[in-house]
Amino acid sequence: MPTESTFLLAALFLLLAAAGWALGRFGERDEDEDAPPPLNIDYLKGLNFLLNEQTDQALEHFLKMVRVDDKTIETHFALGSLFRRRGEVDRAIRIHQNIIARPDLAAEQRDQALFSLAKDYLKAGLLDRAENLFVRLGEGSRYQVEALEQLCRIYEQEREWHRAIDSGQKLEVLSGESLALQIAHYYCELAEQAVLKKDYSSARAYVKKAQSGRPRTQRGALTRAQIARDTGDNKTALKLYHRIIDENTYLITEALPALVDIYASEGSNDKMEKSLRALLAVSPKMKTDVAYTAIVNDIGGSAIIDECVEEYMLSEATLTAFVDLQTVRDATDDGRQAALNKVRTALSKLASTIPRYQCKECGFSSQRLLWQCPSCRDWETQRPFTTVSFDSLLQRSSSPR
Ligand SMILES: [Zn+2]
Repeated sequence: MPTESTFLLAALFLLLAAAGWALGRFGERDEDEDAPPPLNIDYLKGLNFLLNEQTDQALEHFLKMVRVDDKTIETHFALGSLFRRRGEVDRAIRIHQNIIARPDLAAEQRDQALFSLAKDYLKAGLLDRAENLFVRLGEGSRYQVEALEQLCRIYEQEREWHRAIDSGQKLEVLSGESLALQIAHYYCELAEQAVLKKDYSSARAYVKKAQSGRPRTQRGALTRAQIARDTGDNKTALKLYHRIIDENTYLITEALPALVDIYASEGSNDKMEKSLRALLAVSPKMKTDVAYTAIVNDIGGSAIIDECVEEYMLSEATLTAFVDLQTVRDATDDGRQAALNKVRTALSKLASTIPRYQCKECGFSSQRLLWQCPSCRDWETQRPFTTVSFDSLLQRSSSPR
């Protein structure tokens, strides 16, 4: 089967024919002006490669026939970007390298060719090569802003956070746009790496830098709380987790499991009961978040949390088709607790198989909280689902495999 690029090149050869290349315009004309001009042998060769579906040979032939000059350079660029868009990156690379090889190329055209080649490398997954070219273009060219944007992406992929910060800061100056949130996340990445190495003083320093910009990232606060917890400063950790929930109720999914653990390790479950009751008295809507978090993290053993879970399960309309909630309601205390526990365990298992978070920008969903959306690359755009779609879950689990 001829590929799209075969057709593409065939179209180019036809255009060349229309422009007179096919005829022996470039050779010596016969003395007899009435005789038909001879066909250009290069043109015939190129056509022959195409007829035999030898696209690479046809491309090489095209590059040899149509040299890069002021008249043809745009055709070369157009062909290169077409090949890249169609995923034929090797051919795009070949075309852009061919442009760069021209010795008397104007500086602006050289930058354009380098930028195109860097994008080819990026598409081919050759990050090192792409990085080298973007670094060169980021130092001074009309592609400076785009090159720095691409460098940030490459460093994010390579988890080279110091370099990402450097490129981000240069980009802020050049573009005049604030990248404070993005750069704060780069610092948080460094802080989290330091936490893993138990290098808490570096971790604190990175968190401080992350929190110095505006808008502030909540991730910095969570990392601070984690550092306090890891270093045995439970008092600070509790204060920070409570503050995180106060400021961003959606983060209860991240903070509640830690709070439960810390209070339990201190043997002060009563304090947790009290603080959680106080919180829910002010924001009753959060009962759903507490229940959901408890279900997906399998947290039990706390009266107030169990109450939230029970209330949630008994009010979940879609469950009624699968669980006889009336019987649960009418059962004796012990029977009721046992029945609810059974439902809860089943739900916990089911909930762990579906995404918990969704990007509010592009809708991408994942099971873990991801600070950068892998789909739209935005930072801190994920929010937890507040309800589990039990109906689809239960249908899925009850349908024959
Ligand atoms: Zn997204």
